[in-house]
Amino acid sequence: MSDTIKDKIESLRKELRLHNYNYYVLDNATISDYDFDKKLKELDALEKKYPQYFDENSPTQRVGGTITKNFDTVVHKTRMYSLDNSYSLEDLLEWEKRIKKILDTTEVSYTCELKYDGASINLTYNNGVLEKAVTRGDGFSGDDVTENIKTIKSIPLVLKDDFIDTFQIRGEIILPLDGFAKMNEARIAEGEEPYKNPRNTASGSLKLQDSSEVAKRPLDCLLYHIVADKIPFKTHFETLERAREVGFKVPDAIEVCNSISSVFEFISKWDKERYHLPYEIDGIVVKVNSLAQQEELGYTAKAPRWAIAYKFKAAQESTLLKEITYQVGRTGAITPVANLEPVQLAGTIVKRASLHNADQIEKLDIRIGDTVFVEKGGEIIPKIVGVDISKRPPNSVPTKYITHCPDCNTALVRAEGDAKHYCPNEYGCPTQITGRIQHYISRKAMNIDGMGAETVELLYNEGLITNYADLYTLTEAQIIPLERMAEKSAQNIIRGIEKSKEVPFEKVLFALGIRFVGETVAKKLARHFKSIDNLMSASFDELIAVEEIGDKIAESILNFFGNLINIQIIDRLKAYGVQLKISKETLKHQTTKLSGKTFVVSGVFTLYSRNELKKSIEDNGGKVSSAISKKTDYIIAGENMGPSKKEKAEKLGIPIISELDYKEMIQ
Ligand code: AMP
Ligand code: ZN
Repeated sequence: MSDTIKDKIESLRKELRLHNYNYYVLDNATISDYDFDKKLKELDALEKKYPQYFDENSPTQRVGGTITKNFDTVVHKTRMYSLDNSYSLEDLLEWEKRIKKILDTTEVSYTCELKYDGASINLTYNNGVLEKAVTRGDGFSGDDVTENIKTIKSIPLVLKDDFIDTFQIRGEIILPLDGFAKMNEARIAEGEEPYKNPRNTASGSLKLQDSSEVAKRPLDCLLYHIVADKIPFKTHFETLERAREVGFKVPDAIEVCNSISSVFEFISKWDKERYHLPYEIDGIVVKVNSLAQQEELGYTAKAPRWAIAYKFKAAQESTLLKEITYQVGRTGAITPVANLEPVQLAGTIVKRASLHNADQIEKLDIRIGDTVFVEKGGEIIPKIVGVDISKRPPNSVPTKYITHCPDCNTALVRAEGDAKHYCPNEYGCPTQITGRIQHYISRKAMNIDGMGAETVELLYNEGLITNYADLYTLTEAQIIPLERMAEKSAQNIIRGIEKSKEVPFEKVLFALGIRFVGETVAKKLARHFKSIDNLMSASFDELIAVEEIGDKIAESILNFFGNLINIQIIDRLKAYGVQLKISKETLKHQTTKLSGKTFVVSGVFTLYSRNELKKSIEDNGGKVSSAISKKTDYIIAGENMGPSKKEKAEKLGIPIISELDYKEMIQ
């Protein structure tokens, strides 16, 4: 009986692994998502029922859940070298000459690979099983990120077939472009700053403490090099081909070239084609194909002699700078923008580019009418990197940076050590005024339905609102006659505004737009001070005594309430019935029973949803933390608590309690 169950578990694992390989490595799905999930659930249920067959490399273990506070440093068994760079055909020919001289032969062939732009990783396999994953670090030792790496589906936990008993395989962890774009969409929707580029985001992902967060990121791993005491193949190319067969994602763009001129053809092809790849590359890597020749060539102090990287130039074009405009941000910061004659660059049409600040314009001596070089690197917004002086028109004049705000004509200021100019007219500058109201109505703040950024501009332009308190004086009759408005939309707006009076104090506090008071800080302040009156009368020392409130935030709060305009606006909000203190209802549920106690919540619960549980802990004065550490007082475990979490809790001797125990605790 037990044997058949074991067999069933093993065969499910094997089948799921194969589907994973087909999908993530070969990009060729052999099962529907639905059926895959069904089988995975079946396996999961069996593993739960028969824990004696637990295997940390089972496909069910890909979801993560372990927390790593400090990543262990691991010495690489074999050093991870960097690569020498080349930038031209001449460089490559010279390299060829050098190696042919050392090898004393004219017979050299090369493997050409793409140079994947991500974070390098060193994977160790033992008897077909992934044992360790370590970041490059300084090349001699790196960080053990095995738990995080295991969540990346294209990395095999168990190999499909015989390969080499013990080996290390090196590759690049990357974030494909469409996955990166989706992550950014989600971030923008959450009101957060988008990530700058896929490379940094991929490399940052490796060091996340919660592996289930890593599991959610669409990371991929492309492999390019194998290290072992003895490799049973003659060439680098064969080794990689076999690595692909046993489960690794080796991109099929690799090619063998028998001369530097065909290497150069490969380079030229990919210099153009790279914009159609699903991920970013920053060059090509050329490697001597014969492993015997590689060994003969060896290494310099820094890099292998048998390989060289060819770096693509960042995509660059020249075009005409037609105009420089200046944008004012919600906080008054000025950003100069180059308006360009549209130009095709790295697969997109570019019309605008960032000029950063006054210093940058002066340093490059950028002038209107100039032909400028526009570059698109890893960042999303292209930048101007120089001027083609030979094309400068004779009547050209140096750019004078604006001295006054383009919106309100107030003289700009520039704080010492600050690269940016600011418009100090906080309460009179249209963009700053509308920006603040737009923040007030936004989803995470007052969440006023029926109103968008343009509505705010329209109402402001019509002289109906100049601050967020004015919203509460609006009437349908005022709105209906406005452009693109009708009775229905006017009703919606008024209803949305009316409803915002129910929004709890912590959100109102965030909506006020006090500099550095984001959502979390607003929550902390609301919980601590309980009303705007208490907060307004708090001293600097009282403010910084609150957990996680530092000097910068405290000063900004004092500054905000030190301004009479803000006090008047707040008095009006109070009069209109906006929640400026914690409601009786909330207060009633709030106790200090758990004060000073830190909880970690893990698993699935029946009495509470996870969020309810977290809220309840906070309401009773406790702290919720996502990672288990010595500072944790209790772990509330639901069903399916992660095994590694459990192990860690036991190791640290932290009591694990059930949701029922918790309920008793707060009663
Ligand atoms: P660099 O960081 O510019 O010095 O280039 C060296 C790095 O390129 C290595 O550490 C690898 O992480 C990375 N790399 C990306 N693709 C490849 C490839 N196909 N072969 C070797 N190294 C690569
Ligand atoms: Zn202004």
